[in-house]
Amino acid sequence: MDAQITKHFDFPDFPLADLHAHISSSTHPSVYWQIAHDQGIKLPKKDYFEFVNYISLSSHKKMTLEEYLRKIMHPLLDKLGSGTYALERSMYEIFIGAYRNNISLLEIRNNPMRHNNNGEQDLDLIIMSQLRGMERAILEYPNLSAGIIFCLAREFDVEKNSIIVEKAIKYHKRGIVGIDIAGVNNKNFKIKDYKTIFKRAKKAGLKITVHSGELITDNDMWEALEFITPQRIGHGIRAAYDKALMKELAKRKVVLEICPMSNIATRAVKNIDEMKWILRTFIENEVLFTINTDWPEMIQNGHLWRVYKMLLDEKIMTETQLKKCNQTAFNSTFIPRKGLEAYL
Ligand SMILES: [Zn+2]
Repeated sequence: MDAQITKHFDFPDFPLADLHAHISSSTHPSVYWQIAHDQGIKLPKKDYFEFVNYISLSSHKKMTLEEYLRKIMHPLLDKLGSGTYALERSMYEIFIGAYRNNISLLEIRNNPMRHNNNGEQDLDLIIMSQLRGMERAILEYPNLSAGIIFCLAREFDVEKNSIIVEKAIKYHKRGIVGIDIAGVNNKNFKIKDYKTIFKRAKKAGLKITVHSGELITDNDMWEALEFITPQRIGHGIRAAYDKALMKELAKRKVVLEICPMSNIATRAVKNIDEMKWILRTFIENEVLFTINTDWPEMIQNGHLWRVYKMLLDEKIMTETQLKKCNQTAFNSTFIPRKGLEAYL
């Protein structure tokens, strides 16, 4: 290996697995910039660096999840990431970009209905374009393991969400490895309404994760355990404040997908000290968890190796604990086999 590349990853110097990252927030701003100009889409900023600052967060520029989804993600990034051309391109760029940043296993997630221009485009064509982008990346980089998780939306009704589950089942053998529930909670959303649908998905071979307990307002982890029995939970940081829940998670070996930088940038945690307390509480209570990005390109310096380095430098976790988290990620992936072999 090139000496400079080795130096670039002085820590962590072992290959990483990322189980929690969204397409919209994993697409590099330069890819969005090119997609917009290729298609003549008008952007809110004329200068590239102003555009990058406009769409990305940092430890100095924070926004709540609800605010970011409403102001940036849905009106702008979903639009730029819609259509077969944009989606195939961004999928390919995400996977090869991750591999070049020391990730050898990446599960990427999205709601395909956020990429079809509000129903203007055919959902099957949209999904096929995603799969093509992923296949091209794993053909070029045979040591990369890749898979896709489809997110249902808390904002959608059961009928609309069940279409996404049917598509996940249909394309399971091509690379849709699991289903998730994401988005901003609304009063009509109840996890128990999904019991039958998720049972059907599991029977078809799909694995289950669910965004829950990132915020106090979306904390339905107990209901998730009761009605949809997920193998993993996206975020789940609120569990640190519930002893009985931690005991149950540890007993069932449910893995939490922790995304430290994203939680700091979206104010899901107050500060780095709260994140430190949460992770130490999980370690003490033997709750299994992995370290992930969530938004690697929409948070400045948010790549996975930088998240690991931050946790080490801030003395939040030791090298041994971080290695264990990475191993937990490889052990709890939804991707069935290594590389291209997974879908042949
Ligand atoms: Zn997420």
